[in-house]
Amino acid sequence: MSELPRPALSVVAPCYNEQEVLPEFLRRVGAVLDAAGGIAEVVLVDDGSRDRTWEVMTAAAAADPRIVAVRLMRNHGHQLALTAGLSVCRGERILIIDADLQDPPELLPDMMALMDQGADVVYGQRRQRDGESLFKRATAAGFYRLINRLTDVDIPADAGDFRLVTRRVLDLLLAMPERHRFIRGMVAWIGGRQVPLIYDRHARVAGESKYPLSKMIRFAADAITAFSVVPLMASMTIGWVMAGVGLGFFIYSMVGWVMHSNLPGWTSLMAALGLLGGMQFLMLGIIGAYLGRLYDQSKGRPLFMIRDIVGGPK
Ligand code: UDP
Ligand code: MG
Repeated sequence: MSELPRPALSVVAPCYNEQEVLPEFLRRVGAVLDAAGGIAEVVLVDDGSRDRTWEVMTAAAAADPRIVAVRLMRNHGHQLALTAGLSVCRGERILIIDADLQDPPELLPDMMALMDQGADVVYGQRRQRDGESLFKRATAAGFYRLINRLTDVDIPADAGDFRLVTRRVLDLLLAMPERHRFIRGMVAWIGGRQVPLIYDRHARVAGESKYPLSKMIRFAADAITAFSVVPLMASMTIGWVMAGVGLGFFIYSMVGWVMHSNLPGWTSLMAALGLLGGMQFLMLGIIGAYLGRLYDQSKGRPLFMIRDIVGGPK
């Protein structure tokens, strides 16, 4: 299979219970690919759907040789379903898109044009979000503000996973072995030339959002813990503060003891409480600091990624 020429473009879409939108999605993507020309493939990942998504996919794959249907053993969630699709696709450029048509596939030519001008990543940035509740928009806005304060990676606000990436960026992404995957953050972390394309996000064509609040919270927790050790480092700061407070208590109780102003038994109690409490917090902070380093190490990310090397012996 590897001898076959790579398609110029792969479109990768994770699908969870998307039987209503899939035919329309494939129709619109097909039209865009026909207009663009060149060899393309569409990789659809069935993320353990409970409706007829898989049947729709396999029928489509039988009718159109460009379509590749992949079925996961069970529901793994959006980010892992997408990762599965990305590891199967073979294109030189890869369009990541949701199956619900919230992100218009018709933007592909514009994204391709920006990539022709040298972009490594062209990401869709939402100007407007139709058909999404105020709650969803407010939580999303708050989330991106928070994550950008907590991390040193520049993760663009109002951008989802809708983006066109080069094979080179995709290979770097797939080489990151971390288990909790926050793909838009990982792509931002890779760097290179990342160019936004402003667009209006539409309402879902059919079906409903597969991101209930519980999944959104898990997603946010994954994002923050994957890109920030600030919460861990906070334990170090708190540790120092509490060690100081504890020492203060210790000194205060000792001074009282020397001046004979303490109730009997109070001194030993407060001195022990102050010292032990303070030390415990400090030790937790120290453990936190080592854990943070261990965590960073265990993510196994590359230390650096070389873009180009120029010169040297020929
Ligand atoms: N999705 C998935 N597995 C899941 C949840 C969602 O593959 O467990 C897919 C879904 O089919 C869609 C995309 O991920 O193509 C984005 O999900 P959704 O539209 O429900 O999220 P929202 O746009 O509401 O944030
Ligand atoms: Mg959606």
